[in-house]
Amino acid sequence: MTAPAPAPAPAAASTAAKAKSAPQKAMEKLGLVRDIDLALHLPHRYEDETRITPIGALRDNEPAQVEGVVVDCQVEMRGRRQLLVRLKDESGSLLLRFLHFYPSQQKQMSAATRLRVRGEARIGFFGREMVHPVVKVVDDTTPLAQSLTPVYPASAQLPQAYLRKAVASGLARADLREILPHGVVPPGLPSLKDALNYLHHPPPSAQLAALEDHSHPAWQRLKFEELLAQQLSQLRAQRERALLVAPALRGQPGGLHERLLGVLPFQLTAAQQRVCEEIAQDLARPQPMHRLLQGDVGSGKTVVAALAAAVAIGAGWQCALMAPTEILAEQHFRKLIGWLEPLGLKIAWITGSVKGKARQAMLDAAASGEAQLVVGTHAVIEDKVRFAKLGLAIIDEQHRFGVAQRLALRQKLKAMDLEPHMLMMSATPIPRTLAMTYFADLDVSTIDELPPGRSPIVTKVFTDSKRDDVIDKIRMAVADGAQVYWVCPLVEESEAIDLRNATETHEELSATLAGTSVGLLHGRMSPADKAAVMAQFSSGQMSVLVATTVIEVGVDVPNASLMVIEHAERFGLAQLHQLRGRVGRGAKASVCVLIYTPPLSDTGKSRLKAMAETTDGFEIARRDLDIRGPGEFMGSRQSGAELLRFADLQEDAPLLVAARALAPQLLDRAPDAAHRQVTRWLGTKAEFLKA
Ligand code: ADP
Ligand code: MG
Repeated sequence: MTAPAPAPAPAAASTAAKAKSAPQKAMEKLGLVRDIDLALHLPHRYEDETRITPIGALRDNEPAQVEGVVVDCQVEMRGRRQLLVRLKDESGSLLLRFLHFYPSQQKQMSAATRLRVRGEARIGFFGREMVHPVVKVVDDTTPLAQSLTPVYPASAQLPQAYLRKAVASGLARADLREILPHGVVPPGLPSLKDALNYLHHPPPSAQLAALEDHSHPAWQRLKFEELLAQQLSQLRAQRERALLVAPALRGQPGGLHERLLGVLPFQLTAAQQRVCEEIAQDLARPQPMHRLLQGDVGSGKTVVAALAAAVAIGAGWQCALMAPTEILAEQHFRKLIGWLEPLGLKIAWITGSVKGKARQAMLDAAASGEAQLVVGTHAVIEDKVRFAKLGLAIIDEQHRFGVAQRLALRQKLKAMDLEPHMLMMSATPIPRTLAMTYFADLDVSTIDELPPGRSPIVTKVFTDSKRDDVIDKIRMAVADGAQVYWVCPLVEESEAIDLRNATETHEELSATLAGTSVGLLHGRMSPADKAAVMAQFSSGQMSVLVATTVIEVGVDVPNASLMVIEHAERFGLAQLHQLRGRVGRGAKASVCVLIYTPPLSDTGKSRLKAMAETTDGFEIARRDLDIRGPGEFMGSRQSGAELLRFADLQEDAPLLVAARALAPQLLDRAPDAAHRQVTRWLGTKAEFLKA
């Protein structure tokens, strides 16, 4: 019995002053506000109410619709109270069984009533039966549905029947005229209007499989439209940015940049040279650079950043270097000081742990321009710091920053009327298709080679029953002069418990490895204590470091060659890869041991498998994308990711390529159409894609 649904109000009225009904609010929550939003809300599956299957031809466990006359209807006790209705047609009879029911239902299905019933049949104790089918009272003239019945993604407050009506009327009202000029859509695809009508109300003959796996041409058309809108909005953002003015920063012969190259203790790899050249070309232009430098953990991004900073500073401008954590900022600081200070640079150090007078002095140095390089955590830089002449901002581990944060940062960093250049660095490479969509507005440089002399990391996976054996391995490694990380997981909801775990593990290892220096590092320690522990570990005085994920990003101790990650099943793939990247930085053969507690979930299994099979960050990123899908891959804060509702970046790469090729042409030749396309698809969300 389908409950009669109240007729939904036109979508436009939902913004009116009168109180909104619960379903209206639920629709808004799903983003179903404009007619076009409703028209673009597509079924995720269909029910076939277009035909009647004879009861005698029913097959087990397959959804079907039958029609017949009730011959018997009663409540019986069979283990529990239930309503049993026997339905008969010319070909046979079927038992309908209801474990929950209202007296009204019993009345409605009384003997001699004609019923149309939909559900899955199966063989029960008393012959063929359907449990809790959908039931409709009919007569001989009740027509069958002419098209498949759509089932829409809904929510608890939004009944399917209400949503169906709302979508049908939204679809009827929406302006679906073709925006795209003739001949630009890939051949063989229907018009948008035909595609939508088809997908909302497919004919009985439709290929359900092609509809449900989205390979049908109607789906292809929608995905193409969506990808095109997204490409257009990115392209627009890119062109807007190109109108902004930035200082042209050029390295001079014999300048700071060349002097830094002269004092480096190593030769740049070919990949490092190439990306340095790409960055230098950008910096020399009077438009702001917006470049992502990606390179696997340990590929040597820091020195590339230092060289870019040297170009900016050599040209008379300031450079800001931001990192997500203090530990990482501190690492940069030490490395950069080691390289740049002998060249006569003044560096300001701004993080939460620099306080009082010292802090004010640093802020003053940044504001006056006396400090040419400002290093710190992003939080501090966002709030307080003023620059005299900021030419370049470098953000490390950019994936840790959300879209909104990046936008805010750009505003903040504006000096005078000029935009600074921006270099973002990430060890989590963005797979190509993602880069082409979400980061179409970002130029990408890739370091695809590790510095020479690294030995590959061997990864081993054990259950926690092998924990003692692992501790034995540590003892042997330490006796051999190795340094070891032991990582304990941090589960956000129970930081206290984790802290206890880390502390207990520290005590346990200190006791079992008597005579060995075992340190502890976690997020609740004061920055000074953290720095002290890191210094001991870096200098080799400490052999084993028990840590929570505070060491996840950027920590660089080349002598560390063994890493144990406990409860590895609790970590994400990118995080595991980042952690593992802390070893394998020196010449020593390195080992990463992943200890897990069974049972493993399927995704947990594929994560650990990926870790054991490859150390290539790009391969890891691809698999991560497979496991999690693009939305999660990008991180929840980057909710711009949700904008791709239909297209699948893996499967629809050809459509993406076509959309990408069309976008610039359309923007040049039919800017008005381009604008309408973006508005139709993205509404007000388009801003989000600019960050
Ligand atoms: P990441 O890309 O993960 O930030 P780092 O910049 O921390 O990597 O570099 C990792 C280590 O490799 C550092 O100790 C760094 O000094 C060293 N390194 C960087 N480039 C080279 C190179 N061309 N040759 C040798 N060692 C290098
Ligand atoms: Mg780094």
